[in-house]
Amino acid sequence: MAKTFYLEIIATDRVFFKGDTEHLVITAVDGLLGILPGHEPLVTSLPTGELKYMVNGKWRYAAISEGFIQIMPDKAVILADSCELPEEIDIKRAEEARERAEEQMRQKQSIREYYETQAALNRAINRLKISQKHFK
Ligand code: ATP
Repeated sequence: MAKTFYLEIIATDRVFFKGDTEHLVITAVDGLLGILPGHEPLVTSLPTGELKYMVNGKWRYAAISEGFIQIMPDKAVILADSCELPEEIDIKRAEEARERAEEQMRQKQSIREYYETQAALNRAINRLKISQKHFK
């Protein structure tokens, strides 16, 4: 049997996943990071992106919005603003969110509004990308 470690993925509004995984791959700030059992302890922030984790030899994929990950040799905990499976993503809603954000980017905004709009645009584009890639 493959070696595993315990993974918790907690989004703001739900516990997305709790269980054993053989392998986790996240998009970290400086690129892809693969985590296997026995990984050295690490805490890092997670930008909006894709994650995948293997359960019983099969990859599961998810769209994640900004958060943090704590890695220990036998456990990893992800706290994120939101997390969706590809098949949970409402494409129309994400397209509308992208259009709204693109329209706001054309308007004059404060620096803070600009960063918020940029983050909303990233979330929408990420959802569309992951839904197109993994849910056909
Ligand atoms: P919107 O403007 O459409 O609300 P958003 O990026 O501001 O998008 P979030 O604040 O990231 O939304 O998420 C709020 C909740 O809605 C979370 O539970 C998230 O999983 C869910 N969610 C957001 N957009 C989608 C989508 N396109 N499909 C499915 N769930 C979504």
